Amino acid sequence: MRLPSFEYLEPKTIREACKLLAKYGPEARVLAGGTDLLPKMKSKEITPRYLIALKSIEGLDYIDYQPGKGLRIGALATLESVRNSPVVKERCPVLGETASLMASTQVRNLATVAGNICNAVPSADMAPPLMVLGAKLRVSSPGKGRLAPIQDFFQGPGQTALGAGEIVTEIVVPNPLPKSGSVYLKHTVRQAMDLALLGAATMVALDGKGACKDVRIALATAAPTPIRALRAEEVLRGKVIDDALLAEASAAAVEEARPRSSVRASESYRRKLVGVLVSRGIAQAMSRARAAGR
Ligand SMILES: Cc1cc2nc3c(=O)[nH]c(=O)nc-3n(C[C@H](O)[C@H](O)[C@H](O)COP(=O)(O)OP(=O)(O)OC[C@H]3O[C@@H](n4cnc5c(N)ncnc54)[C@H](O)[C@@H]3O)c2cc1C
Repeated sequence: MRLPSFEYLEPKTIREACKLLAKYGPEARVLAGGTDLLPKMKSKEITPRYLIALKSIEGLDYIDYQPGKGLRIGALATLESVRNSPVVKERCPVLGETASLMASTQVRNLATVAGNICNAVPSADMAPPLMVLGAKLRVSSPGKGRLAPIQDFFQGPGQTALGAGEIVTEIVVPNPLPKSGSVYLKHTVRQAMDLALLGAATMVALDGKGACKDVRIALATAAPTPIRALRAEEVLRGKVIDDALLAEASAAAVEEARPRSSVRASESYRRKLVGVLVSRGIAQAMSRARAAGR
């Protein structure tokens, strides 16, 4: 199927890109890897008149770690580069592991982490792990930029908190908490190239006595947007986690999930998956936290 016609714009700076986006408003779209955008354009689900290509801006594909600043992932860093990055493996392995569960090598070589977040579908795999790691999005605009917590970013299916002329230029991931571990579990029908029927990211930080000092749980495909399971977290925070508490927390997560039925899975099946993946994820994150030397 042919793409509808559009004008391809190649700004050389972020400022120029933001100005173009502000100028053309809803008629324009930012283009990163195009793996979400172009299929939607081919099917005529969206027909932007202007594509603003970030690829023409140099130096946006970095993955960088600095002790005071944490991990920084540039807007053009691909899923494949995150998957293979030694610094990601060392500092935030859950991000590389999540990238490995997504799409295919060909798609991952084009697809960006920022594009996955800005596409804002409920099944965006990168969203839950970034939410449990407490990531922030650096947003540039023709005026003043801002740093936005990722968990306030998702406003509805395909809807983000980005305003006119705003572009995500990097994702900032703070240092993981001491003695913490994170995992992302993705349930799919097929082994490869499949979207999540349900995804659950969990982060557990332990104190010196082995109790849960902090915990975060985030879910994909469990609601119209990626969500935190805040009530489930409350059940666990500050306590020694045993089987009974794990069962109570996963029941709380099942309660707060708002999945829908689709051709791929029923609402009740997705709810069951929430319980299973949260319980399994917390147990795995705890073993990682126990093994963490820091
Ligand atoms: C075969 C196939 C398999 C896939 N498998 C998976 C999977 O397993 N899991 C999954 O979650 N997704 C999957 N996807 C979806 C897609 O690959 C990812 O969401 C990808 O990360 C999108 O990144 P991109 O750079 O291609 O985004 P693009 O398509 O370029 O952009 C996506 C949207 O975000 C906007 N955008 C992009 N970058 C920015 C920015 N920096 N600032 C503001 N707005 C921006 C664009 O305007 C567009 O609306 C798959 C896609 C395909 C085609």
